[in-house]
Formats: sequence, C-alpha cells, structure tokens
Amino acid sequence: MAPVNVMNLQQKRLTREDILFLLNLTGKKELEDLYEAAYAVKTRYVGKKVYFRGIIEFSNVCRKNCFYCGIRKDNQNLVRYSMGLDEIVESARWAWEAGYGSVVLQSGERKNRTFTAFIEKVVKRIKQVSSGELGITLSVGEQDEDTYRRWFDAGAHRYLIRIETSNEALYRRLHPADHSFSERLKSLEALKAVGYQTGTGVMIGLPGQTMEDLADDILFFEKMDVAMIGMGPYLPHGDTPLYGEGSSLAITTEDLLDLSLKMIATTRIYLKDVNIASTTALQALVPTGREMGLLAGANIIMPNITDVQYRSLYQLYDNKPCINENSETCVSCLGTRINSIGETIGYREWGDSPHFKNKQSATGSIRIL
Ligand code: SAH
Ligand code: SF4
Repeated sequence: MAPVNVMNLQQKRLTREDILFLLNLTGKKELEDLYEAAYAVKTRYVGKKVYFRGIIEFSNVCRKNCFYCGIRKDNQNLVRYSMGLDEIVESARWAWEAGYGSVVLQSGERKNRTFTAFIEKVVKRIKQVSSGELGITLSVGEQDEDTYRRWFDAGAHRYLIRIETSNEALYRRLHPADHSFSERLKSLEALKAVGYQTGTGVMIGLPGQTMEDLADDILFFEKMDVAMIGMGPYLPHGDTPLYGEGSSLAITTEDLLDLSLKMIATTRIYLKDVNIASTTALQALVPTGREMGLLAGANIIMPNITDVQYRSLYQLYDNKPCINENSETCVSCLGTRINSIGETIGYREWGDSPHFKNKQSATGSIRIL
C-alpha cells in the first residue's frame, strides 16, 4: 500500500486500507498532522461552532444486562431512581434559559406502555415550556417503530442508539444471549424510517476488538447513512462481568486517548458533514479530553445537566467526571475551555448536521423546523 499523505486527505476518497493506516498511526508528528487534517475538514464542512446538547440522565432503571455497563439490571450495588415529569421538565427549562439549543433525554432501557406514555408527555411538556425552541434528542434504547413514531410526533427529532460494535460476533460476546445485534440494527432502520436525525456509535478499546473492527465501524457509519456519531472509549466498571478484561489495542490511558481521537479524526475525514460528539468518556480519560476531541474533528458537546443528587447513581463506567459539580459550574468552565481553543458556542441553535439537511434538500422533503 502506498503511504497516505496525511495532509492531502481532504482530496482523497479513503479506502478501508487508508482508514486502517490512519488508525494505526503512532508518531507524535503523524498524529498532529492527522488531527490538523481532520480539523480542516471540520472547518470546511461544519464550521468551528460547538453545539451543546444538555444531557438529562433521567433514570438508571434498565431491563437489560450489557456486560460492560454499570447500570445493568443485575447490578445490585446501586440505588435505582427515576426522575418525575416536573423534575425533568425543570432541568430542560434550565437548559433553555441558559441558551442551550437542545437537550438529550437518556436512561436505561424500558419497554412498556407506561414508559412510552411518560416519554411522550415529557417531550410535549418540554416543547411547551420552551415555546417549541428546545430541540429534543432521545436515547432510551430499542423500541418498536410505533413507539418511535409517537415520540417523534410529540416533538422529539433526534435519537441516539449506538451499535456498540459493528462486528456481530464481538457484539455477542459483550451481551447476554437474549440481546440481539439484529434488533439493534432494526431499531436504527426504524428511526430513520420515522424521520429522526439518527445517531449511532461504538465503544473504542473493547476487550476483543481489533483495529479492523474499528475501521469497519467507520464503514458501517457510512453504510447506515446516519446524521450523528457518538463514540467514546470503553471504560471498565467494577460491578460488571467484563471488568478485568483488558483491551489489546490500548494498554495505557494515553493509548486509549490517542485511539479515541484517531477514530474521531478518521471519521471526520471520511464522512465530512456529520455531527460528531466529543463525549464525556473522553473527559474521564483526561480532564481536557473533550476539547481534544473538538480539535480532532468533533463538533458537539453534551454537558451533563442532571441534578447532582442523581449523578453518582448513573455511572455507566467508573470515575465518571463532574459527578459533584452542578450544571452552572459545568457550563461556565466548559465555555471558558471552548473559547480557549478558538471555537464559539452555538447558543440557541439546534445545530442540525449538515449531512441531514443536505439529504433532506436532495429528496425535497425539508421539514419546517
Ligand atoms: N440504555 C440506552 C442509553 C444509555 S447507555 C442504550 O443502551 O442505548 C448509553 C451508552 O453508554 C451505551 O450505548 C454505551 O455505548 C455507553 N456505555 C455503557 N457502558 C459503558 C462503559 N463501561 N464504557 C463506556 N461507555 C459505556
Ligand atoms: Fe441498559 Fe443501555 Fe447500560 Fe445496556 S448500555 S445495560 S441498555 S443502560
């Protein structure tokens, strides 16, 4: 394979081999070049504005048992909570008043009529109190198409559901037998059919994951034609079955950080106009992890706006950052950090992905926002 000139990547259509080559880069100078190239693609296709999605982790009740996750059903070592309607709506109102364009409502997975009706009500109320201004993203797992449609009709317009890994065999090793890769895929398809801006993503550095898997994950994002990508490092949680199994791709924290940034940068260069989140899990690796993500090509940050009393109970992984800081503290320190890297914050804007907008114009079906 001819070596890729990192600085000429913007002009080139990357092959799977090129993607692998980029993911395998190691030297300091090479990595800097890669991030710089990704940043140039980002500036050109999505700009230098960061959009905030305030995340409300409204419940840690979950019917599933993913082997890696700290709030899995069988973990008895935590108190379960579910925020009430008014509490969730008040958190959303806070975000709206603070100038956030959108909120993300995230929780463990529940699948029943009461839950469906509750989410529908929450979405409608948030729309009401924010005069229709606040964008609403949902991240509450696998549901059937009718449920997704009800929530969409209520006013939610984005949905996040990670595939976790696009390698089905690896997916099976990370989940109990009754969790299904094809159901996860079906959910992604259903969300797109309903009309959501759909986001997916993977964990990076999973036990058993190879560099080829990660390259295929990027190709999977393209094949699924999603509008948003949210990826982050896999971080162990002491009360999970996967604890103690290490990654062969990243031994040290620094390796894992580099690998995560390489995934962001390569995805940006390859997909160009999608929204890419710089996730909290990056910040768990190093305090400035999210800013590093922005500089490697991400353009979305999801500040945690969950009431502090619940934060320590929503630990998907150990050492989650900011569990004792209130939302105001988080946002002011974040604003300063973002300005310090020369970017601005898109206050009061939804910041929809140009990829989604371009696609809609192409099919002539632009939704009135
Ligand atoms: N229950 C929903 C949403 C909450 S979990 C769902 O599963 O879709 C949100 C994401 O947290 C998951 O998709 C997974 O990628 C991530 N996550 C869970 N455990 C993690 C861990 N130990 N390290 C890093 N990310 C984790
Ligand atoms: Fe539940 Fe989501 Fe955690 Fe799986 S990843 S156990 S579905 S909260």
